[in-house]
Amino acid sequence: MEVKYKLTFKGWNNSLKKNKLLGLKCRDCGKFTCPPKMTCQECGSINLEVVEMSGEGKIVTYTVSYVPGEGRYVEAPILIVMVELDEGPWIMGNLTDIDPNRASIESLIGKRVKLGPHSKVYPGDAYSTGEEAQGGEARPTFIFA
Ligand SMILES: [Zn+2]
Repeated sequence: MEVKYKLTFKGWNNSLKKNKLLGLKCRDCGKFTCPPKMTCQECGSINLEVVEMSGEGKIVTYTVSYVPGEGRYVEAPILIVMVELDEGPWIMGNLTDIDPNRASIESLIGKRVKLGPHSKVYPGDAYSTGEEAQGGEARPTFIFA
């Protein structure tokens, strides 16, 4: 059987630029996969359908980056959060409505967040090459819910 990507990274990226967070719902086990992969991250099935995710969840961990990619110096520091979406998958994004210098475990871990009004589009840094990165890479941007 020929295996195709139901949702390519490029398609996911383009939707994210329009502030739509897409994921894959498994028709076999019912679990969600996001960002997209070729198979269900839970059971490995390829019987997947593209769905729009709620974009809401809670912060499970975070890091503050003071070292941005080349050509992105103005963006540092960046608060990067790992969010457990309500549908289950964990995705990485930026949290924009708190000063990264004031980030703490107390102020972040377990807090509810939702996809912000504008997911940030990066022009692609010195390390981003290839067709996927063309036109910029969108990163989910979260705000407190
Ligand atoms: Zn599955």
